[in-house]
Amino acid sequence: MLKEIKCDALVIGAGPAGLTAAIYLKRANRDVLVVRGKEKSALEIAHEIKNYPGIKNIKGSILLAEMTEHAVALGVKILDDDVLAITADMNPKMASTKTAFITTNAIVIATGKGTRKPVLHDEEKFIGYGVSYCATCDGPLYKERPIAIVGTDTETAEDVLLLHQMGSKVTWLLKDKKIAEIEAKTDLIQEILAKKIPIIERVKVMRILGTDRVTGVEYDVSGGKKENLNVDCVFVMSSVPTAMLLKRSGLAVSEMNAIIVNRNQQTNLEGIFACGDVCGNGLQVSIAVGEGAVAGMNAAKYLLEIEE
Ligand SMILES: Cc1cc2nc3c(=O)[nH]c(=O)nc-3n(C[C@H](O)[C@H](O)[C@H](O)COP(=O)(O)OP(=O)(O)OC[C@H]3O[C@@H](n4cnc5c(N)ncnc54)[C@H](O)[C@@H]3O)c2cc1C
Repeated sequence: MLKEIKCDALVIGAGPAGLTAAIYLKRANRDVLVVRGKEKSALEIAHEIKNYPGIKNIKGSILLAEMTEHAVALGVKILDDDVLAITADMNPKMASTKTAFITTNAIVIATGKGTRKPVLHDEEKFIGYGVSYCATCDGPLYKERPIAIVGTDTETAEDVLLLHQMGSKVTWLLKDKKIAEIEAKTDLIQEILAKKIPIIERVKVMRILGTDRVTGVEYDVSGGKKENLNVDCVFVMSSVPTAMLLKRSGLAVSEMNAIIVNRNQQTNLEGIFACGDVCGNGLQVSIAVGEGAVAGMNAAKYLLEIEE
C-alpha cells in the first residue's frame, strides 16, 4: 500500500546539495521532505575533505552526518526511499517512490553524479517495458504471469513474497551467491523455501531478452554455460538508474547527462530546480552546498510567487 504524502517542497537526494537546499527551504518556513535514495552520497564515501572552507580536515561521512543532523534539527523530514518518477507538467507536481506517492509544489533535484552500473545488460533500454524497480507499484500487472526478481537483501526477500502473494509465478535470481550466503532475514528465507518459490543460485552475467518488451533473461552459470528463463518482467532490487528516470520526466540534460539549469538553478521545467553533482559543475562539496543554497532560496521564492 503506497503512503500519500503532501509537502510544500520535495528535495530528492540527501547529499550536501539536497541538505543545503532543504535547510534554506525550512528556514523560509516551508514544509520540506527530503527523499534519500539507496545509493550512497559521494560525500559519505569521501575519505578526507581538506578543501571545505572553515574545516581543515574532516572525514566525508562525518561532514555528511553533521549536515543531516543540522537539517533534521530544523525540522526537515527525511524518507529513505528511491524516487522513481516525477510528474512535472502540472501543479501540484507529483513524485512516486517505492513506498509513497508525494504531492508537492516545488521540487529540488540533488541526486548526485551517480555511480550505478546496470545489473543486467540492456536493463535501462527496457525500463517500463518489462523492467521494474517497484514490486508494490508494478506487481499487480503480472498476476499469473512468469516474472523474475534479482537481488540479495531483505528488501528483495520481502518482495519475492509480495509478488508470490500477488499471484505472479516468480523466480528469484541470486547473482554470484547461494541462498545460504545472502544477508536477508532468516525467517523470510524460511518462508520462501517453505512455499517452494523457485530460486536460481550463483547466476553470473545476466542479459535481458526481447525486442520491444522483455521476453526473458539469459544468464551464465558456472563454467560459462548459458541458460534462459522465459519471463514477462524482471524486478531489479538495487538502487535505481536515476538519470534515466529523470530524463523521462522531460528534464533537459546535456550530452553528459547533466541537468541543464540557469543561474537560479532552475531547470527547463517550472518549479523544478537542480543542484550539485547532478548538474555536472565542478563536482565538489562547496559547489554542491553553494548550488543547494541558490536552489533552496529560489524554490522558496517560487512558492511565494505561486501563492500570490
Ligand atoms: C572518493 C571521493 C572523494 C571526494 N573528495 C572530495 C574532496 O576532497 N573535496 C570535495 O569538495 N569533494 C570531494 N568529493 C566530491 C563530493 O563528495 C561531491 O561533489 C558531493 O558529495 C556532491 O554532492 P551532491 O549532494 O550533489 O551529491 P551526493 O553527495 O552524491 O548525494 C546524492 C544523493 O542523491 C540520492 N539519490 C540518488 N538517486 C536518488 C533517487 N532516485 N531517489 C532519491 N534519492 C536519490 C543519494 O541517495 C544521495 O543521498 C569526493 C567524492 C568522492 C566519491
